[in-house]
Amino acid sequence: MVSSENQRILVWLRNDMRLRDNPALYNAAEAGEGVVAVYVLCEDFIERHSTAPSRLDFIRRHLRQMQTDLAERNIPLVLLRVRRAGEIPHQLLSLSRREGCHSLYFNAEYPLDELNRDRAVAEYFHDHDRHYKRFHDRVILPPGKVRNGQGEPYQVFTAFKRRWIQMARELPMVPHGLPAVQPKALGQVSDAGMTLDSLFRGVHLKDLSALWPAGEEEALSRLAEFADGPIRDYKSKRDLPAEAATSTLSPYLAVGSLSPRQCLTAALSANEGRWDEGSEGVTTWISELVWRDFYQHVTVDFPVVCKHKPLQGHTDAFPWRDDEEDFNRWRRGETGIPIVDAAMRQLLDTGWMHNRLRMIVAMFLTKNLRIDWRLGERWFMSQLIDGDFAANNGGWQWSASTGTDAAPYFRIFNPVTQSERFDPDGRFIRKYVPELARVSTRQIHQPPPVPGYPAPMVDLKASRKETIALFQQLNGSS
Ligand code: FAD
Repeated sequence: MVSSENQRILVWLRNDMRLRDNPALYNAAEAGEGVVAVYVLCEDFIERHSTAPSRLDFIRRHLRQMQTDLAERNIPLVLLRVRRAGEIPHQLLSLSRREGCHSLYFNAEYPLDELNRDRAVAEYFHDHDRHYKRFHDRVILPPGKVRNGQGEPYQVFTAFKRRWIQMARELPMVPHGLPAVQPKALGQVSDAGMTLDSLFRGVHLKDLSALWPAGEEEALSRLAEFADGPIRDYKSKRDLPAEAATSTLSPYLAVGSLSPRQCLTAALSANEGRWDEGSEGVTTWISELVWRDFYQHVTVDFPVVCKHKPLQGHTDAFPWRDDEEDFNRWRRGETGIPIVDAAMRQLLDTGWMHNRLRMIVAMFLTKNLRIDWRLGERWFMSQLIDGDFAANNGGWQWSASTGTDAAPYFRIFNPVTQSERFDPDGRFIRKYVPELARVSTRQIHQPPPVPGYPAPMVDLKASRKETIALFQQLNGSS
């Protein structure tokens, strides 16, 4: 037992792996005599949420960095592993007692499982006369704040965005958020828990460190580089997967080595503080940060989406096909539609996929193959290094026309037309589908028979027609 009982604060790190602009960490360092940080790996969450091995390795590498960064500030990082989330309250309370921490601070997470986990911890602490404090961090405006005139949540993005911008403009934007922490004393723990190696023992990891180096410094330098140049062309180039035109910050935002406030601050300063004038690249990029907030708000306002259910309840009766072989061809990138295959192979190779392609492959799975969006959603989570429940569920329900402000069911992307428009010279396709490297640019979007490359697995026109008819029946009967 460390002396100075009740002087320190325990900070529970989750997807907020940074020292700067971290509300829980900053406030703990300001309020306590010292800080102890803890990370809890939950086996059950990894399984149930299909966390990608690349994302787990990214978390592991961030923890290694955090151990060093925190130690320099006199903050020990304790590593714990549990089988089930139900064990977390007891583990955290024992730790806080052992290390003399009177309070627990953490930054909120919004999907239902995480909310339930945190509620259980809060109740347990309350029942045992310990304090806890929850901070909003993952979003720019907290869920529940952006409401229409009737006090209701928005379901349409454009209206949400209008109100969001009005409110966000009022925020005191501290450049780059809260400063990094400098705690006062008491930098020892009696038991540091597990080593990093033992924490991840037996966990399936995929090392993509060459593509995605970990850490807050890396995240901030990527942000600075993007805000210094590419952001200006974002509007005109963001849909072209062969160009390096988007920020590729999503893995860092997902693990929390970067905050959305830091992104907004950088974008605004690249535009001399203007929100809706100046660079169209900047204002378009800010819209993406609003989409990010929007879907986080949706998970809180419509928790049904966290229960594997569509937001538009009547669409649950849609006759999705259950065809394992077709699903596997889509997963492997062997559909015979070059842009779909290139995208699915980009996901397998890099743990990331360009946004335009995420929409194309999600529409292809749900509208041409008519396979349940929930299977696609799960596959994405199992592969994405930036896997984030809110953004992923939002993107899938948008594509499947089952969600809030979803694509209307009759607006189905034709992947060949999309390919011609957004990969006009076939550069992206050739990079990921080497079988087509020698096909001419004119033919690459819809190639003639090529040895080793499959013929299209589905008739795009006929399948589109069939899906629209089924949606019409569904809507007619609802
Ligand atoms: P940029 O274009 O530079 O955008 C900046 C940031 O804004 C992104 O890093 C991201 O945090 C946020 N953002 C951008 N577009 C969206 C969007 N449509 N919805 C929510 N946030 C957005 N994004 C994830 O972070 N994790 C996911 O698991 C995820 N799954 C998706 C699944 C589908 C089916 C679809 C259609 C989209 C999904 N997205 C997801 C959103 C989007 O595709 C990625 O955020 C984006 O491609 C990341 O690349 P970037 O960092 O270069 O984005």
